[in-house]
Amino acid sequence: RFISFEGGEGAGKSTQARLLADHLRGLGMRVVLTREPGGTSGAEAIRTLLLHPPEEDWGARAEALLFAAARSDHVERLIRPALARGEWVICDRFIDSSRAYQGIAGNLGDAMICKLHDLGSEGLRPDRTIVLSASESEVFKRLERRDQGVADAIGGRDAGYHAKVDLAFRRFAEEEPNRFAMVESDGPVEAIHRKVLELLRPILER
Ligand code: C5P
Repeated sequence: RFISFEGGEGAGKSTQARLLADHLRGLGMRVVLTREPGGTSGAEAIRTLLLHPPEEDWGARAEALLFAAARSDHVERLIRPALARGEWVICDRFIDSSRAYQGIAGNLGDAMICKLHDLGSEGLRPDRTIVLSASESEVFKRLERRDQGVADAIGGRDAGYHAKVDLAFRRFAEEEPNRFAMVESDGPVEAIHRKVLELLRPILER
């Protein structure tokens, strides 16, 4: 089974992905917990390139290609082999981040991003995708608490960009209700974790 977590920065993806992995391991399942961009040494090297562009920033197309290349390596070397062994894969961001960031907010279009994903990763899609969405004020508080100045590593993105990303995820969820579930993630970590488990119950009991 393949589960992805999506959403903007500070929405709680990494925390919820880890809690889900711990929960499944507690049930005796074998779990690969990973993230993108990254997850393999090749893809982590591309992540470094993405977060620290040699020029001021990457052009939109080059950036989309780098994300697709990182994902291709990640899928080929880590995700597909784990799924083939019957393990669970939990991924912090996947194709839908590229669709929302590079495709919608970055104006390349969804069709182009899906085409790159077909080429790089044979169009692999998660079985279920949890989209976490926190309010702007909550996100701001969370990002302030991190001391990496995360807010925007790639390019000088503004609030309008993030609103577009959030809206894009909501639209994807509406378009594909069988794969996506939306979770409003302002509340306490434990409560959100329980919501996630509830939403995944059908797939967990299979
Ligand atoms: O998930 P995380 O916060 O580590 O992502 C690192 C950065 O990469 C974030 O600034 C996120 O906005 C950006 N990103 C992106 N396009 C993607 C995936 C992540 O711009 N497809």
